[in-house]
Amino acid sequence: MKDIVIIGAGPAGFTAGIYAVRSGMDALLLERRATGGQVLDTDWIENYPGFPGGINGAELMGRFEKHARDLGVSIESDEVHEIRREQDSFVLRTRKGEIKTKTVILATGTGPRPLGVEGEDRLRGKGVSYCAVCDGFFFRDQEVAVVGGGDAAVEEAHFLTRFCSKIYLIHRRDQLRAVGSLQRRALDNPKIEPLWDTVVTEIRGENSVEELILKNTKTGAPGNLKVGGVFIYVGLVANSYLYKGLVELDERGFVKTDVEMGTSVPGLFAAGDVRKTPLRQVVTAVADGAVAAITAEKYITGS
Ligand SMILES: Cc1cc2nc3c(=O)[nH]c(=O)nc-3n(C[C@H](O)[C@H](O)[C@H](O)COP(=O)(O)OP(=O)(O)OC[C@H]3O[C@@H](n4cnc5c(N)ncnc54)[C@H](O)[C@@H]3O)c2cc1C
Repeated sequence: MKDIVIIGAGPAGFTAGIYAVRSGMDALLLERRATGGQVLDTDWIENYPGFPGGINGAELMGRFEKHARDLGVSIESDEVHEIRREQDSFVLRTRKGEIKTKTVILATGTGPRPLGVEGEDRLRGKGVSYCAVCDGFFFRDQEVAVVGGGDAAVEEAHFLTRFCSKIYLIHRRDQLRAVGSLQRRALDNPKIEPLWDTVVTEIRGENSVEELILKNTKTGAPGNLKVGGVFIYVGLVANSYLYKGLVELDERGFVKTDVEMGTSVPGLFAAGDVRKTPLRQVVTAVADGAVAAITAEKYITGS
């Protein structure tokens, strides 16, 4: 039986692993995709302390992983399909089999919220993207659109200026939500043109994205925009489908925790973006992971 299994190798999961092994527990970290979580989807992290000038997302996660492995965290490629409570322990059913553990940390993060408009699903991967770092290169010298007004939308619009000839930043309000420094940098860039008070109502194209159908949110006036790609950053969906009926979630599907990262189920903890929290960033995920591991250790030892 394991002391602790951590689901998800993003910033929260790696940090939980580091703190768990340093507390004397044997920690197993499971990841269904490439290790690193959402940080792999961004080119440059400028606000993680200790890296003045910033650091590449993949490089930062490579350092987290090395740190965790060097300290003895076991990291395996596997996907958890089900979590069952059995007396005082948990059984995880995974792609590879079953794992029994005394405690579990849910660090499964979030995924992109889709726009939910016609054409989006059909043209996903054919010009509809949720990751500028992964796909931006394919739109060299093309005009594209970014939908959203928060940090991720504005940051990624700026990243796309490396490749694309023009980026329309489509936002449903008349001002951005992103932090001031990101806004200024984006709006000062001549390649970025904001389209205020505008929503996308349909994505059109035969075999790839050709045109967006738009609507002005104030006047209701329709419009259209010819672009070769559209990058969607309109919010996050919690990766919590596994936990429905197991732990208490909020109305948006985020896991409810106390300040020690305890959930409604004893022995089951949550950390990072998947939990109900006022800020979803690397620095908060890291802090949550540390707290969750220390609380799990106290739970096991009864201290
Ligand atoms: C485009 C973009 C730009 C960003 N820019 C910044 C920034 O500049 N600064 C900053 O601080 N933050 C930034 N963020 C936010 C930051 O990436 C997240 O807050 C952080 O990654 C959350 O970490 P996490 O460990 O909670 O979850 P995640 O990073 O989401 O990792 C969760 C992991 O769990 C895995 N997983 C899910 N379900 C399962 C399962 N059933 N079995 C096994 N594995 C599973 C997932 O595959 C994933 O790898 C950005 C995010 C995006 C998308």
